[in-house]
Amino acid sequence: MNKLLFNLLALQDVDMKIRALKARLAMLPAERAANEKKLVAVSAALKARQDQLKTTEVAIRTAESEIARLNDNVQKLQVNSVLVKKNNEYQAMLTEIQHNKDKISDHETKLLELMETADAQCQQVKTEEKQSAARIQSIKDELQEFTSLEKEIKEQGRTLVAKSKDFASRVESSLLERYTRLLKDSGTPAVKLDGEICGNCRSKVTPQTRNACRSGMIPNCDNCSHMLYCDTGNE
Ligand SMILES: [Zn+2]
Repeated sequence: MNKLLFNLLALQDVDMKIRALKARLAMLPAERAANEKKLVAVSAALKARQDQLKTTEVAIRTAESEIARLNDNVQKLQVNSVLVKKNNEYQAMLTEIQHNKDKISDHETKLLELMETADAQCQQVKTEEKQSAARIQSIKDELQEFTSLEKEIKEQGRTLVAKSKDFASRVESSLLERYTRLLKDSGTPAVKLDGEICGNCRSKVTPQTRNACRSGMIPNCDNCSHMLYCDTGNE
């Protein structure tokens, strides 16, 4: 391989590594955002469970105070019933007492159900708390890894950029100019000529281009303008 080509390919190798690092770096914000979204979702799931339990606890307190109020009513009615003289009024009071007692019974049944629900929900909250703590930790670890990775990529990038500048200074100026222009696009600037086929656009090149390439020159592809080289050139 001639020195012209050797220096160019050394530069291109470094620049492709820089390009890959930049691409990796560009992915990081989205990955980080996705993890932060997960963090919010985990916290929201836990809060939903805690809220369910709170709602049940409020219902329990409501039922308890309702039972206390009705018991109070029954007691007052019982005290008053002693003082009532008329039989029909006394019967009405007894009915009212029974009515209150029925209501108490209903509330007590409901209270038992609510307590069972609260027990189950309390268990769910504890499980959810444990699981979300583990999940939150792993997401935070991952976020921390992104930070380390970003630092590492940037450090590697700085080293490679310095290397690229050094290698570029060794490439012949007109060649470097052509290369730099092509580097702005997404493909690889210098590609191998595969027989008569351009390694970039896969078009067949003219015999002149092929011959130039084989003689060790670095011509442009007739179709896509990428730089072409042959390994067989001046080896
Ligand atoms: Zn081409």
